[in-house]
Amino acid sequence: MIGASARHVTTNPVTINGTLDALMCGQQLTEPHINHFVRGVVDGSIAPVQRGAFLAAVRIQGMSPVETGWLTQAMAASGDVLDLSGVRKPLADKHSSGGQSDLTSAVIAPVLACHGLAVPMMSGRGLGPTGGTLDALESIPNFNVGLTIEEVVSQLNSTGAAIFASSTNVAPADAILYADRDVTATVANISLIAASIMSKKIAEGLGREGFNDSLVLNVTTGSGAFMSKEAEAIQLAEAMVDIAIRSGINTSAVVSSMDQPLGPLVGRSLEIQQAVRVLRGETEGFERYYQVVVELATNLLIQSGLYSAAQFDEAQASVKDKISSGQALEKFMEIVAAQGGDVSAIRDLNKLPTAATKVVVRATSSGFVNAIASAQIGWAVVYLGGGRESPGAPIDHGVGVHVHKFLGDRVEKGDPLATLHVNDDARLADSIAAIQGAYQLGGEPTEHGPLIIEVIRGN
Ligand code: URA
Repeated sequence: MIGASARHVTTNPVTINGTLDALMCGQQLTEPHINHFVRGVVDGSIAPVQRGAFLAAVRIQGMSPVETGWLTQAMAASGDVLDLSGVRKPLADKHSSGGQSDLTSAVIAPVLACHGLAVPMMSGRGLGPTGGTLDALESIPNFNVGLTIEEVVSQLNSTGAAIFASSTNVAPADAILYADRDVTATVANISLIAASIMSKKIAEGLGREGFNDSLVLNVTTGSGAFMSKEAEAIQLAEAMVDIAIRSGINTSAVVSSMDQPLGPLVGRSLEIQQAVRVLRGETEGFERYYQVVVELATNLLIQSGLYSAAQFDEAQASVKDKISSGQALEKFMEIVAAQGGDVSAIRDLNKLPTAATKVVVRATSSGFVNAIASAQIGWAVVYLGGGRESPGAPIDHGVGVHVHKFLGDRVEKGDPLATLHVNDDARLADSIAAIQGAYQLGGEPTEHGPLIIEVIRGN
């Protein structure tokens, strides 16, 4: 049970009143009740006030795993479902709940494609302090994320990976309910979050009959993550793995810490530079980012059946080999070229967007870095113009933050904490304040938890 104890299955009529009454009385819904509700959300026959009542009742009463699975399936089927039947290889994809300096897709997609898997990464944009894969890739001159389904299928068969934006009609029920949740204090429910995320993954067409399609979920937790509490992140990861298994997708979830940026470079073009440097085998200075990339890619090799769980070390060695041998970098350039991007900007990173000036932010006191409000680092990038405060706003790909101090480091007053890459100084003071406010220094070093907190394997 995700949010309530075992409940009596309702015998109420399949009407919106019957559904709401059952929920409010703590009864379990049936699949027809849930399908009827989701259909009504999309065709408009269920009024906004009724949607709000449904969401509030779910937040208070909770939903069982089976109800959560039905809700996810109904939302996934409420719009376009990608037809990837023309792809002749097993599909593998990754979803991350986001953070700072965590553009892992740019390394994972080519590594998996080098293993003969097809990687349909339908990705999103950043909102608030978390960066988005599409925004980062659009730092590469001419990179096109607006692929048609025919282009996606063709690129998956030829190159093995495509990184693209979803159409506006993917899981439209989720788009409506997500906007409702935002204004009715009903975001924070594990079933609703899990159904929202997984409906979009299922609509991506994973879980085809006859193929070992696989998914890895990176659920981040900590000061820079959507789920700040570790126990809730683990609960969410378990709920999503449960849904995926019910949908026939071999899935594992890696719960990892976002108590500080994953790497030193935060910002759209800076994160492409970080990914490319790791693809070139330059892992020094990027160790935590590299560790998460390798963990996620290794789990996908296992979920896809190329290696068994007992062969974890072999799978991991293969991932590392694709990076250190340069094969993954070659594959990344193939993907960039296939999507119209300027490959010369990958060979020469100076051709990526940059900022006109650099501003060093210094520590105002001495001590050990005992905590970092990682989201504040993301906000510092937003204030420089590198992220959005409203959906659809334009962004400056060249700006960002180079972080110099991490958890456990000793800092003396006046030491550089971070370097800001700046084009427009209108909100520079806010950005500097965000960086300085993000660091909590103490007289003694404190213990910090592991980077990889838990791996939940679905099969
Ligand atoms: N991301 C989503 O897509 N949905 C949620 O509910 C939370 C995060």
